[in-house]
Amino acid sequence: MTRFDIITVFPELFAGVLDCGIIRRARQAGVVDVRLVNLRDFAKDRHKSVDDRPFGGGEGMVFMPGPLFEAVESCQSGHVAGGDAAGIGASDAGKGEVVFLTPQGRIWSQEMAEEFATFSHLILICGRYEGVDQRVVDHLVDREVSIGDYILTGGEIPAMALLDSVVRLLPGALGCGESAVNESFSTGLLDYPQYTRPAEFRGYAVPDVLLSGDHAKIEKWRREKALEKTKRVRPDLVDRCAARNSRN
Ligand code: SAM
Repeated sequence: MTRFDIITVFPELFAGVLDCGIIRRARQAGVVDVRLVNLRDFAKDRHKSVDDRPFGGGEGMVFMPGPLFEAVESCQSGHVAGGDAAGIGASDAGKGEVVFLTPQGRIWSQEMAEEFATFSHLILICGRYEGVDQRVVDHLVDREVSIGDYILTGGEIPAMALLDSVVRLLPGALGCGESAVNESFSTGLLDYPQYTRPAEFRGYAVPDVLLSGDHAKIEKWRREKALEKTKRVRPDLVDRCAARNSRN
């Protein structure tokens, strides 16, 4: 079972994501164990403060190192409450891979999701305000991950995106009729267009080839359409795919 510990000041934001669809099913099936860790539980004062003003001046607040170090260490020792199942005990929790969601990180990709799906324990840190004390990044975090070149108010939505894209790759997470194989990025190109019933809708018809029953022709049409769309909207992927094929 893969374990995720998510350190956040807003654990309640995750309720919908954890309780619907594939993630819910994967949790119930024991494929993944997700624990929400409230950073404020590691605060030292009666106000439950976890942030303070930046040294040197400037706008906003910064997460202090103390509560974050203690929260991560508690995940590593296996003493965090609130998981789904028996999960990982103190002896086998291990160090885990400590991931900080930040716009300064490496941009998240399907390739990274595939790599993360091989880890048994991930600890995600969701920032807020101006971010976290740099000593957390320098001495606690293994990887910094960004979900794109834009600024969100917190790391919770990026953590949900990371969680969702990794969980659906875990063996046993997807049900019958669902596949992670033929999708955009997994093939190196964007996905081909999909159609379902009715064959004609408001005068818009499904391409004849898909109704032909000729599987070789359908396969060829799908490849052409995938390439056509990728060339149009993501020419960088076509170049990358060509470079990879020439290396193999
Ligand atoms: N001052 C920070 C900077 O410029 O790098 C941005 C802080 S942002 C307002 C607050 C938190 O939201 C960050 O610490 C991070 O956890 C999260 N966040 C915002 N945008 C993100 C992105 N594109 N990818 C991942 N996390 C992001």
